[in-house]
Amino acid sequence: MTMEHGEDCCVKVAVHVRPLIGDEKLQGCKDCVTVVTGKPQVQIGSHSFTFDHVYGSSGTPSAAMFEECVAPLVDGLFQGYNATVLAYGQTGSGKTYTMGTACKEGSHIGIIPRAMAALFDKIEKLKTQVEFQLRVSFIEILKEEVRDLLDPAAAATSGKVENGNGHAGKLSVPGKPPVQIREASNGVITLAGSTEVHVTTQKEMTACLEQGSLSRATGSTNMNNQSSRSHAIFTITLEQMRKADPIMTLDGMPIEEMNEDYLCAKLHLVDLAGSERAKRTGSDGLRFKEGVHINRGLLALGNVISALGDEKKRKEGAHVPYRDSKLTRLLQDSLGGNSKTVMIACISPADINAEETLNTLKYANRAR
Ligand code: ADP
Ligand code: MG
Repeated sequence: MTMEHGEDCCVKVAVHVRPLIGDEKLQGCKDCVTVVTGKPQVQIGSHSFTFDHVYGSSGTPSAAMFEECVAPLVDGLFQGYNATVLAYGQTGSGKTYTMGTACKEGSHIGIIPRAMAALFDKIEKLKTQVEFQLRVSFIEILKEEVRDLLDPAAAATSGKVENGNGHAGKLSVPGKPPVQIREASNGVITLAGSTEVHVTTQKEMTACLEQGSLSRATGSTNMNNQSSRSHAIFTITLEQMRKADPIMTLDGMPIEEMNEDYLCAKLHLVDLAGSERAKRTGSDGLRFKEGVHINRGLLALGNVISALGDEKKRKEGAHVPYRDSKLTRLLQDSLGGNSKTVMIACISPADINAEETLNTLKYANRAR
């Protein structure tokens, strides 16, 4: 069975197949996923799926993945376009590794650190003509509640976030109200009550990522790993003020990057909750169903993305169900419309994961 797709879609989908890892090899797992050479196609059993890109386990897929999938989104920020990168897949499939949310993975560099480097590179080139301001936030959505991962109060126990001035973002009040998602009359979504840290260097931005990752890890218990059930969203907001008019390059050509005097755009880098429906408990190895209910955010995200991808429906002005979850609500102004979205579906090649891998490929396929 082969699935064919139209070319034009506002959501790009890539698949990242990780290699078999130690544990799987020990269990004697076989590799059941084939990446078709020269085509963005994966096969599992009798199923075959074509995506925008497929990255296998050989070579250094992360550099190519960044260039092909994410660099255009970073460039788009400078033109005022919001963007979202989503890592989807079952727990253990490589979402955090791919995104680089947890920072340290040996010599591997994930998407978030690469995006930061590209961003600061570009700022360095343009800074004589444009004044830039950067802010970051890092939140987690667990069971439809938004948690601030950069909350300085939490930082006091697990480390510290500092910006260049030695100030740690906003002051936090004990028992502070939960973070709320708000929509302004112009459609811009903001988070009320979450820490936004102003940063001026890549080092400061990295410190925020590390701080939030630590806070995410320490906030979850080992037995019942909540981090696999939460969505972690690292958001970079770029504000630009044109200094002089017109903007020229060194060889005297006007830069087309900016058509307006002020632009503001954000990039959401999302490490989604594990997509698996059934879980193994840590201690006794017994399997149990986590109710019939799949993570609400993932369900809503699938529906939103598939509504966006359905051109016929879009033209008819069909309803896009953003309001069905906190995740889609938060991403509302950065999914669809003028914004650019990339979903990276992460999969394990191990035969014991075949069922979840197939589910992931089907979910990703709906996005196209
Ligand atoms: P997830 O965040 O989806 O639960 P992780 O990113 O934590 O999964 O990955 C699970 C394990 O697999 C980790 O030990 C990670 O180092 C390893 N891993 C994931 N992707 C790759 C890859 N592409 N190459 C090598 N190891 C990987
Ligand atoms: Mg993870």
